[in-house]
Amino acid sequence: MYGGPLMHSDDGATDFDYVIVGAGSAGCVLANCLSANGKHSVLLLEAGPKDSNLWIHVPLGYGRLFKEKTVNWMYQTEPEPGLGGRQVFQPRGKVLGGSSSINGLLYVRGQHEDYDRWRQRGNLGWGYDDVLPYFKKAENQQRGADAFHGADGPLPVSDLIYADPLSAAFISAAGETGIPLNPDFNGASQEGAGFFQTTTRGGRRASTAVAYLRPATGRKNLHVETSALAQRILFDGRRASAVEYRRGGALRTARARKEILISGGAYNSPQLLQLSGVGPADLLRTHGIGVVLDAPGVGQDLQDHMQVRVVMRCAKPITLNDIVNHPVRRILAGAQYAAFRKGPLTIAAGTSGAFFKTNARLATPDIQIHFLPFSTDKMGEKLHRFSGFSASVCQLRPESRGSLRIRSADPAAPPEIRINYLASEVDRTANVEGLKILRKILQAPALRPYVVEEVEPGTKVSTDEALLNFCRQRGSTVYHPTSTCRMGNDPLAVVDQRLRLRGIEGLRVVDASVMPDLVSGNTNAPVIMIAEKASDMILEDAR
Ligand SMILES: Cc1cc2nc3c(=O)[nH]c(=O)nc-3n(C[C@H](O)[C@H](O)[C@H](O)COP(=O)(O)OP(=O)(O)OC[C@H]3O[C@@H](n4cnc5c(N)ncnc54)[C@H](O)[C@@H]3O)c2cc1C
Repeated sequence: MYGGPLMHSDDGATDFDYVIVGAGSAGCVLANCLSANGKHSVLLLEAGPKDSNLWIHVPLGYGRLFKEKTVNWMYQTEPEPGLGGRQVFQPRGKVLGGSSSINGLLYVRGQHEDYDRWRQRGNLGWGYDDVLPYFKKAENQQRGADAFHGADGPLPVSDLIYADPLSAAFISAAGETGIPLNPDFNGASQEGAGFFQTTTRGGRRASTAVAYLRPATGRKNLHVETSALAQRILFDGRRASAVEYRRGGALRTARARKEILISGGAYNSPQLLQLSGVGPADLLRTHGIGVVLDAPGVGQDLQDHMQVRVVMRCAKPITLNDIVNHPVRRILAGAQYAAFRKGPLTIAAGTSGAFFKTNARLATPDIQIHFLPFSTDKMGEKLHRFSGFSASVCQLRPESRGSLRIRSADPAAPPEIRINYLASEVDRTANVEGLKILRKILQAPALRPYVVEEVEPGTKVSTDEALLNFCRQRGSTVYHPTSTCRMGNDPLAVVDQRLRLRGIEGLRVVDASVMPDLVSGNTNAPVIMIAEKASDMILEDAR
């Protein structure tokens, strides 16, 4: 915990202007921006610990955090009907910085058209031209400022440090199949192949805890409590008045004079609302929870990106598998990182990639490829013993929709998560067509010197039906759940365009759950943009 001493009222509660639940990608941005002018007192509650685990700060360390329960909620979906009844593991950050402390570090905003679609759905102020200034405001772009980028913001965005020949060959191979070179996926157009940029600086992770919270920790008006699980929002009629949270075995209450801001992420925000009596009335009654507001949309419309990976056996011992599995090379890589913050440990969840259309009739790409100079059976598990590299297909705008529902009234019980991957024909076709195009790239001349064979799915898997089966057997998440407290104007929309909970006063949701639908890219940068914009709206409304 830090900040000045807490002042308790006669009833034992503490009082702040703003109480923020969740110090993740969004919560840390809010904490910094709302406390910056010194006029408001802010409490930031985080269920997890401080970000002192060393692997958080080493880019490749994200592989070690997938199953590290001290910093990860480690959720599971229910059996997924489209994936042969398999449950899909869902890592989520539970630590200062939230998922930005354990994520794959890729900085990809999505397509201009994503935000124009949000706007077209009636969300005034969320078109691309409206949100671009907030992406730029947040950004500290290593390449400098231009029409699409900012260089004065808190969030470092950098080029890769480790240049490996396979990642470059992937880009050339994509070019040989007709996919143009694109040096900036966040510029004028996303389409093409190129290197990713990452939220790092000097070879270290830049989570929002590092980029936004650390610079604000000296402020007397900002209090941060870790290991503090918010259990319930308390209401005065239809006005959210306080947060009840558990810390160190004690139940505490923090009152908000102005607003409560829920930033628990796409799973925990709707869970907290349902636990507090805001959600589908029948669900709440089933669990004996008093209904404050029958809000049937809370927990609906869950979306996620699925990925399905192709694994290649490499002809040369140049992959990360070779380094990690060789005792001397592994030690040298560690020493190189320790001394210079360089080398293979600076790799993120993708080095190069490509965005393309599976169907010429589409206006913008529907597939993203993440290329990696290593291979493994499952992310977070041991790398293969053989020299290997891999690339995954990710459909950018899935039609399938799922839900999040509490399983019980116990705030510590994990919620019931259903994503319904591959429930729609469009999704099934996009994944199969995406795999076919990826295979063409992997067989193109530029990669030929490096390829021995396709290990998975393997050349025996060739028909559309077999490829779809492969997707069902091996598909997993790209860790981008969104839209469970969707912004909009229809009866199922949970928040309005100023992110205020519809039907409740003094309460906003600010995180990935408010996205009207999933963006065509990675979700960390869009969440940071949302929180930057939300901060402006909150401060405007406080005047
Ligand atoms: C393994 C992984 C890899 C990813 N890779 C990338 C990538 O490469 N690029 C990219 O752009 N995106 C990536 N993402 C996604 C991206 O990181 C998330 O979309 C983004 O961080 C979500 O931000 P958020 O603020 O909505 O939630 P989070 O950042 O998850 O923050 C929620 C916070 O709230 C806390 N919290 C929840 N409930 C409570 C409660 N009741 N009381 C107190 N605190 C609570 C949580 O502990 C957490 O710290 C990845 C995510 C994961 C998990």
